[in-house]
Amino acid sequence: MKYIGAHVSASGGLDKAVFRAFQLHATAFSFFTKNQLQWSALPLSLIDINNFKKSCVKYNFFFEKILPHSSYLINLGHPNNDLLKKSRIAFIQEIKRCNDLGLYYLNFHPGSHLNNISEKDCLSRISESINIALENTDNVTAVIENTAGQGTNVGYCFEHLYEIINKIDDKSRIGVCLDTCHLFAAGYDLRTKENCQNTFNKFFNLIGLKYLKGLHLNDSKKELNSRVDRHENLGLGYIGKLVFEWIVQNRCFSNIPMILETSNATMWSKEISWLKSL
Ligand SMILES: [Zn+2]
Ligand SMILES: [Zn+2]
Repeated sequence: MKYIGAHVSASGGLDKAVFRAFQLHATAFSFFTKNQLQWSALPLSLIDINNFKKSCVKYNFFFEKILPHSSYLINLGHPNNDLLKKSRIAFIQEIKRCNDLGLYYLNFHPGSHLNNISEKDCLSRISESINIALENTDNVTAVIENTAGQGTNVGYCFEHLYEIINKIDDKSRIGVCLDTCHLFAAGYDLRTKENCQNTFNKFFNLIGLKYLKGLHLNDSKKELNSRVDRHENLGLGYIGKLVFEWIVQNRCFSNIPMILETSNATMWSKEISWLKSL
């Protein structure tokens, strides 16, 4: 079975995110457990936690099909030691929030070297950050997202993801989320069946399907290898519809959450029903 949803707003309370996903007829979803543009957040109250969990049960969402996204401020490969420390603390807090909510995963962007350290050093810092976070938390799996390679972001190729994962002590709590827009912007073609198979074979061979914990289904407003991260609604961008059909019909991707982050949210409901119909 395929689990399909979108990145929904949690404004008004985390349980509202669950209800929004339900309204879309989704079977998976993503959300921010706190304001993604602020470093700190009030701790979750027992009431917040219970309301969230009750909503998930009421609307039939499985906790392992929910893929929360961490704050954009966090840079686990930061070249500056003070800001690296700040990021590590914030990341640990986010993992703890997910664990409190009964969630299994936290999806995050690997980090940026900001032209102050090499990509290799940045990747090492990221692995170290993840190791520290996993040592100081329980249960939740850290799910690295591939990037478009915009600016100084690392994680735009499978070799980077491999390098990060290779240095993780507890490999049972590390995973990957692949974003189709980011793949395409980073130069991985997805426009024909052959391209799709080639791209994913590279991932399966270097990293392995068992690490794949989620997919972000987005078309791209920019061309192949543009290194620019601009999401488009399915079929309206440079990738086109085929890859989404290919993914939804592929058994390799059963049972993991597939999340839309396409630009026009009013189309999510239609996009989800189209994907389900495949
Ligand atoms: Zn992301
Ligand atoms: Zn993106």
